[in-house]
Amino acid sequence: KGRQKENYAVIGLGQFGAAICQSLVEANQEVLAIDINEETVNDFTNLVTRAVIADASDEETLKDLAIGSFDHVFISIGQNIQASIMATLLAKELGAKDVICKAENESHARVLEKIGADQIVRPERDMARRIVFHQLQPNIVNYLILNDNVTLAEVKVDNPEFVGKTLIELEVRNRYHVNVIAITSDGHVNISPQASDVIELNDLISVVGDTNDVDRFNRDAN
Ligand code: ADP
Repeated sequence: KGRQKENYAVIGLGQFGAAICQSLVEANQEVLAIDINEETVNDFTNLVTRAVIADASDEETLKDLAIGSFDHVFISIGQNIQASIMATLLAKELGAKDVICKAENESHARVLEKIGADQIVRPERDMARRIVFHQLQPNIVNYLILNDNVTLAEVKVDNPEFVGKTLIELEVRNRYHVNVIAITSDGHVNISPQASDVIELNDLISVVGDTNDVDRFNRDAN
Protein backbone atom coordinates (compact mmCIF):
# COMPACT_ATOMS: atom_id res chain seq x y z
CA LYS A 1 0.00 0.00 0.00
CA GLY A 2 2.80 2.40 0.96
CA ARG A 3 4.46 2.26 -2.45
CA GLN A 4 1.30 2.87 -4.43
CA LYS A 5 0.69 6.38 -5.76
CA GLU A 6 -1.82 8.30 -3.69
CA ASN A 7 -3.23 11.80 -3.78
CA TYR A 8 -2.18 14.21 -1.11
CA ALA A 9 -3.27 17.77 -0.43
CA VAL A 10 -0.99 19.84 1.77
CA ILE A 11 -2.57 23.01 3.16
CA GLY A 12 -0.24 25.57 4.72
CA LEU A 13 3.30 25.67 3.40
CA GLY A 14 5.28 26.84 6.43
CA GLN A 15 8.29 24.91 7.72
CA PHE A 16 6.31 21.78 8.46
CA GLY A 17 4.03 21.78 5.39
CA ALA A 18 7.05 22.39 3.16
CA ALA A 19 8.90 19.44 4.66
CA ILE A 20 5.81 17.25 4.22
CA CYS A 21 5.62 18.25 0.51
CA GLN A 22 9.31 17.53 0.05
CA SER A 23 9.03 14.09 1.64
CA LEU A 24 5.95 13.17 -0.36
CA VAL A 25 7.57 14.20 -3.63
CA GLU A 26 10.65 12.16 -2.75
CA ALA A 27 8.31 9.23 -2.12
CA ASN A 28 6.90 9.76 -5.62
CA GLN A 29 3.39 10.78 -4.50
CA GLU A 30 0.92 13.18 -6.14
CA VAL A 31 0.85 16.45 -4.22
CA LEU A 32 -1.46 19.45 -4.36
CA ALA A 33 0.14 22.25 -2.32
CA ILE A 34 -2.06 25.08 -1.04
CA ASP A 35 -1.20 28.33 0.70
CA ILE A 36 -2.83 31.73 1.02
CA ASN A 37 0.47 33.48 0.35
CA GLU A 38 1.41 33.95 -3.32
CA GLU A 39 5.17 34.16 -2.80
CA THR A 40 5.12 30.99 -0.74
CA VAL A 41 3.17 29.10 -3.40
CA ASN A 42 5.58 30.25 -6.13
CA ASP A 43 8.38 28.38 -4.39
CA PHE A 44 6.45 25.12 -4.81
CA THR A 45 5.34 25.24 -8.44
CA ASN A 46 8.40 23.35 -9.66
CA LEU A 47 8.35 20.80 -6.85
CA VAL A 48 4.80 19.48 -6.51
CA THR A 49 2.17 18.19 -8.95
CA ARG A 50 0.14 21.36 -8.57
CA ALA A 51 0.47 24.44 -6.37
CA VAL A 52 -2.37 26.89 -5.80
CA ILE A 53 -2.89 30.14 -3.96
CA ALA A 54 -6.06 29.74 -1.94
CA ASP A 55 -7.70 30.51 1.39
CA ALA A 56 -8.33 27.11 2.94
CA SER A 57 -10.86 28.51 5.40
CA ASP A 58 -13.23 29.25 2.52
CA GLU A 59 -15.76 26.53 1.75
CA GLU A 60 -16.26 27.27 -1.97
CA THR A 61 -12.49 27.24 -2.52
CA LEU A 62 -12.06 23.84 -0.92
CA LYS A 63 -15.04 22.50 -2.88
CA ASP A 64 -13.54 23.74 -6.16
CA LEU A 65 -10.26 22.02 -5.28
CA ALA A 66 -12.21 18.79 -4.62
CA ILE A 67 -10.57 18.46 -1.21
CA GLY A 68 -12.99 15.67 -0.33
CA SER A 69 -11.56 13.44 -3.06
CA PHE A 70 -7.99 13.30 -1.75
CA ASP A 71 -6.67 10.17 -0.09
CA HIS A 72 -4.90 12.25 2.56
CA VAL A 73 -5.11 15.91 3.53
CA PHE A 74 -2.39 17.53 5.64
CA ILE A 75 -3.37 20.75 7.39
CA SER A 76 -0.28 22.50 8.61
CA ILE A 77 -1.48 25.98 9.39
CA GLY A 78 0.09 26.82 12.74
CA GLN A 79 -0.10 30.48 13.64
CA ASN A 80 -3.62 31.12 12.37
CA ILE A 81 -5.46 28.64 14.58
CA GLN A 82 -8.87 29.82 13.43
CA ALA A 83 -7.98 29.07 9.79
CA SER A 84 -6.58 25.69 10.79
CA ILE A 85 -9.82 24.79 12.58
CA MET A 86 -12.00 26.01 9.73
CA ALA A 87 -9.97 24.15 7.09
CA THR A 88 -10.14 20.95 9.13
CA LEU A 89 -13.89 21.25 9.67
CA LEU A 90 -14.49 21.89 5.96
CA ALA A 91 -12.20 19.11 4.78
CA LYS A 92 -14.10 16.63 6.96
CA GLU A 93 -17.49 18.02 5.87
CA LEU A 94 -16.44 17.72 2.24
CA GLY A 95 -15.64 14.03 2.77
CA ALA A 96 -11.87 13.87 3.15
CA LYS A 97 -11.19 10.46 4.71
CA ASP A 98 -7.79 11.06 6.28
CA VAL A 99 -7.15 14.53 7.63
CA ILE A 100 -3.80 14.96 9.39
CA CYS A 101 -3.43 18.19 11.33
CA LYS A 102 -0.55 19.95 12.97
CA ALA A 103 -1.54 21.41 16.33
CA GLU A 104 0.23 24.32 17.99
CA ASN A 105 -0.78 23.50 21.54
CA GLU A 106 -2.98 21.32 23.71
CA SER A 107 -6.21 23.29 23.28
CA HIS A 108 -5.73 23.49 19.53
CA ALA A 109 -5.27 19.71 19.49
CA ARG A 110 -8.43 19.18 21.55
CA VAL A 111 -10.55 21.26 19.19
CA LEU A 112 -9.12 19.49 16.13
CA GLU A 113 -9.94 16.15 17.67
CA LYS A 114 -13.53 17.23 18.45
CA ILE A 115 -14.20 18.36 14.89
CA GLY A 116 -12.99 15.08 13.44
CA ALA A 117 -9.30 15.33 12.57
CA ASP A 118 -8.12 11.78 11.91
CA GLN A 119 -4.56 12.32 13.08
CA ILE A 120 -3.07 15.14 15.10
CA VAL A 121 0.66 15.80 15.26
CA ARG A 122 2.63 18.12 17.52
CA PRO A 123 5.99 18.08 15.73
CA GLU A 124 7.92 20.41 18.04
CA ARG A 125 6.72 18.69 21.21
CA ASP A 126 7.21 15.19 19.80
CA MET A 127 10.69 15.98 18.51
CA ALA A 128 11.62 17.64 21.82
CA ARG A 129 10.50 14.52 23.69
CA ARG A 130 12.59 12.31 21.44
CA ILE A 131 15.64 14.48 21.84
CA VAL A 132 15.31 14.60 25.64
CA PHE A 133 14.76 10.84 25.75
CA HIS A 134 17.96 10.22 23.77
CA GLN A 135 19.81 12.75 25.91
CA LEU A 136 18.77 10.94 29.10
CA GLN A 137 19.28 7.44 27.72
CA PRO A 138 22.11 7.71 25.21
CA ASN A 139 22.51 3.96 25.02
CA ILE A 140 19.03 3.39 23.72
CA VAL A 141 19.79 3.63 20.03
CA ASN A 142 16.24 3.09 18.83
CA TYR A 143 12.93 2.59 20.51
CA LEU A 144 9.26 2.13 19.85
CA ILE A 145 6.55 2.74 22.43
CA LEU A 146 4.07 -0.03 21.70
CA ASN A 147 1.52 1.26 24.19
CA ASP A 148 1.46 3.08 27.54
CA ASN A 149 3.62 0.47 29.28
CA VAL A 150 5.29 -1.65 26.63
CA THR A 151 8.49 -0.58 24.92
CA LEU A 152 10.73 -2.10 22.30
CA ALA A 153 14.25 -0.74 22.57
CA GLU A 154 17.63 -1.31 20.98
CA VAL A 155 20.17 -1.09 23.79
CA LYS A 156 23.89 -0.70 23.24
CA VAL A 157 25.99 -2.80 25.59
CA ASP A 158 28.69 -0.83 27.43
CA ASN A 159 28.99 -2.71 30.71
CA PRO A 160 32.05 -5.01 30.83
CA GLU A 161 30.08 -7.33 33.10
CA PHE A 162 27.76 -8.11 30.20
CA VAL A 163 30.55 -8.78 27.73
CA GLY A 164 31.39 -12.41 27.01
CA LYS A 165 28.26 -13.66 28.76
CA THR A 166 25.41 -15.62 27.20
CA LEU A 167 21.77 -14.60 27.50
CA ILE A 168 21.32 -17.52 29.92
CA GLU A 169 24.21 -16.31 32.11
CA LEU A 170 22.79 -12.82 32.12
CA GLU A 171 19.39 -14.22 33.15
CA VAL A 172 17.74 -11.64 30.94
CA ARG A 173 14.30 -13.15 31.24
CA ASN A 174 14.38 -13.94 34.97
CA ARG A 175 16.04 -10.75 36.13
CA TYR A 176 14.49 -8.22 33.78
CA HIS A 177 11.36 -9.93 32.42
CA VAL A 178 12.23 -8.71 28.93
CA ASN A 179 12.47 -10.70 25.73
CA VAL A 180 15.51 -10.43 23.49
CA ILE A 181 14.26 -10.43 19.91
CA ALA A 182 17.46 -9.54 18.06
CA ILE A 183 21.16 -8.98 18.60
CA THR A 184 23.11 -6.76 16.24
CA SER A 185 26.83 -7.38 16.23
CA ASP A 186 29.10 -5.35 13.92
CA GLY A 187 26.16 -4.51 11.66
CA HIS A 188 25.06 -8.13 11.42
CA VAL A 189 21.54 -8.67 12.77
CA ASN A 190 20.75 -11.98 14.40
CA ILE A 191 16.96 -12.17 14.41
CA SER A 192 16.64 -15.47 16.24
CA PRO A 193 18.94 -15.14 19.23
CA GLN A 194 19.56 -18.30 21.25
CA ALA A 195 20.02 -18.55 25.01
CA SER A 196 23.60 -19.63 24.33
CA ASP A 197 24.48 -16.55 22.24
CA VAL A 198 27.38 -14.54 23.63
CA ILE A 199 27.16 -10.77 24.03
CA GLU A 200 30.08 -8.66 22.77
CA LEU A 201 31.01 -5.08 23.63
CA ASN A 202 28.93 -2.56 21.62
CA ASP A 203 26.38 -5.16 20.58
CA LEU A 204 22.89 -3.78 20.13
CA ILE A 205 20.33 -5.87 22.00
CA SER A 206 16.71 -5.45 20.92
CA VAL A 207 14.45 -6.09 23.87
CA VAL A 208 10.72 -5.84 24.32
CA GLY A 209 8.94 -5.65 27.65
CA ASP A 210 7.37 -3.47 30.30
CA THR A 211 8.87 0.01 29.98
CA ASN A 212 10.22 -0.08 33.56
CA ASP A 213 11.88 -3.43 32.93
CA VAL A 214 13.39 -2.18 29.67
CA ASP A 215 14.74 0.86 31.57
CA ARG A 216 16.25 -1.39 34.21
CA PHE A 217 17.87 -3.60 31.58
CA ASN A 218 19.25 -0.53 29.84
CA ARG A 219 20.78 0.85 33.05
CA ASP A 220 22.47 -2.47 33.84
CA ALA A 221 23.76 -2.95 30.31
CA ASN A 222 25.70 0.31 30.65
P1 ADP B 1 5.16 26.46 10.47
O1 ADP B 1 5.30 26.61 11.94
O2 ADP B 1 5.08 25.02 10.01
O3 ADP B 1 6.18 27.25 9.67
P2 ADP B 1 3.20 28.50 10.02
O4 ADP B 1 2.01 28.63 10.86
O5 ADP B 1 4.30 29.49 10.20
O6 ADP B 1 3.70 27.01 10.15
O7 ADP B 1 2.81 28.53 8.47
C1 ADP B 1 1.56 28.30 8.07
C2 ADP B 1 1.39 28.53 6.59
O8 ADP B 1 -0.02 28.48 6.37
C3 ADP B 1 1.88 29.89 6.10
O9 ADP B 1 2.64 29.70 4.91
C4 ADP B 1 0.59 30.64 5.82
O10 ADP B 1 0.70 31.51 4.68
C5 ADP B 1 -0.41 29.53 5.53
N1 ADP B 1 -1.79 29.92 5.83
C6 ADP B 1 -2.24 30.65 6.86
N2 ADP B 1 -3.58 30.81 6.78
C7 ADP B 1 -3.99 30.14 5.67
C8 ADP B 1 -5.25 29.92 5.03
N3 ADP B 1 -6.38 30.44 5.52
N4 ADP B 1 -5.28 29.19 3.89
C9 ADP B 1 -4.14 28.67 3.38
N5 ADP B 1 -2.94 28.84 3.92
C10 ADP B 1 -2.84 29.57 5.05
